[in-house]
Amino acid sequence: MSPEFYPAIINGEKVATGKSLDDINPSTGKVFAQFARCGLDEIDQAVEAAREASNRVWRETDAAARGAVVRRMGELLLQNKTELTHLESLDTGKPLTQANADVMVSSRYFTYYASAIETLHGDNIQGKKDAFAYTEREPFGVTAHIIPWNYPMQISARTLAPALVAGNCCILKPAEEAPLTSIRLCELALEAGLPAGVLNVVPGLGHEAGAALSAHPGIDHLSFTGSRQVGTLVARAAAENIVPVTLELGGKSPNIVFPDADLDVAIPTIVNSIIQNAGQTCSAGSRLLVHESINEEVLERIVKALSDIRIGHGADDPDLGPVISEQQLERVVSYVRQARNDSNLVCGGGLPVDEKLAGGFFFLPTLFANVKSGMPIWREEVFGPVLAGATFKDDEEALALANDSEYGMISAIWTSNVQRAHRMAKELLCAQVYVNSYGAGGGVELPFGGYKRSGYGREKGFEGLLQYTQLKTVLFKL
Ligand code: NAD
Repeated sequence: MSPEFYPAIINGEKVATGKSLDDINPSTGKVFAQFARCGLDEIDQAVEAAREASNRVWRETDAAARGAVVRRMGELLLQNKTELTHLESLDTGKPLTQANADVMVSSRYFTYYASAIETLHGDNIQGKKDAFAYTEREPFGVTAHIIPWNYPMQISARTLAPALVAGNCCILKPAEEAPLTSIRLCELALEAGLPAGVLNVVPGLGHEAGAALSAHPGIDHLSFTGSRQVGTLVARAAAENIVPVTLELGGKSPNIVFPDADLDVAIPTIVNSIIQNAGQTCSAGSRLLVHESINEEVLERIVKALSDIRIGHGADDPDLGPVISEQQLERVVSYVRQARNDSNLVCGGGLPVDEKLAGGFFFLPTLFANVKSGMPIWREEVFGPVLAGATFKDDEEALALANDSEYGMISAIWTSNVQRAHRMAKELLCAQVYVNSYGAGGGVELPFGGYKRSGYGREKGFEGLLQYTQLKTVLFKL
């Protein structure tokens, strides 16, 4: 039996391109589906369909009516939860419980923004007594959304929901490693009543479909989530066409643990922040900073927690699934090999030996201690279940180490000293700070993004809706 084929969706129609790509299950290393490989022609068709839908219908639809369709998309995700959970788990290798959480969060993006759009308003500016001036927020027109493989459904929902309710027509380019739930989401959008052309999906290779989409002169706004390298290319393409771009790139986020922290809460949260999605989260807690007086106890407790982690196929719902691909596994292996020479490997550090895992892209949960700030595992994204630990003497050193990063996505402070927590929160150079908690991006309503090389623009929350609007000022002389 040949594997199931997932098409592109352009102007409300399923499009089977002449060429297709294989989709690999990371738990087994085997092909289990195929999908359309879009190129220049399909990108042109999608941009034309989106422009036409923008002019013909979507811009002219009342905000409340747009919100109603988008809310229905969220409801349909929940109605199809079982199918989507299994599909996401097969495609990415993530455990079923994590895939199920992704469906729930994805659904909430649609319902949250369906409500938020009804509260969007302009301002009346009262500077001159002989004039009446106001602002209003308008859609850009055609928006392009290029997303990665680590949270395909969630990131599709996170970027599409605000763009759609704001009145934009969208073209979604999922990652070639895991495009299936993004395609299903677009099919469900049609079922929800989204008019043809308002949402199009163009799966394919990054350097073909992705590059063609980001350089297309018919695009009015770009949203990119992925690696820093590709983000740079996309931003360059946006600059050529003078269109705005939001970039959600990588991170190297620290958990900072003080001696007055409640370790019973901190330890499981810290472990989860690096185990979730096999460490392939841009806001993973991949750096651990511990006060030197409690370092030994913290390391011991983390090792104990890591040794209890169940590794397995996503479909068996373990704690830790595989990484996405053979290439990603090689990347993790290479960082760990390098780190072994210059720091202490405390646990893990290799591939699990278990014949049930043969063929899959698995790596043991790994902890390094005494990592120096110049080392690649301290500075660069490994994107695997690898935690890099170091110690500090006082608050100043903790801050200096935490901020000594090119990235600035999130940080967590573990302390019961409120004054210290506030001071650190003010001085940490990152876009989200958690106190006695860790959010890996946090809730749908919390603005999220990057300081420094982690990117610019914000997604999530009301701020995320504003990103998909442009401001117009109107003045009447009285
Ligand atoms: P990637 O940058 O290789 O790919 C992301 C997307 O860009 C994919 O859809 C890919 O097909 C496309 N692409 C590749 N080459 C392109 C090109 N030349 N032009 C246009 N598009 C192109 O990233 P990845 O490997 O899929 O994801 C992992 C990276 O993403 C990590 O570095 C991670 O930190 C980052 N990430 C960030 C966030 C966030 O919210 N900040 C979320 C998830 C992942």
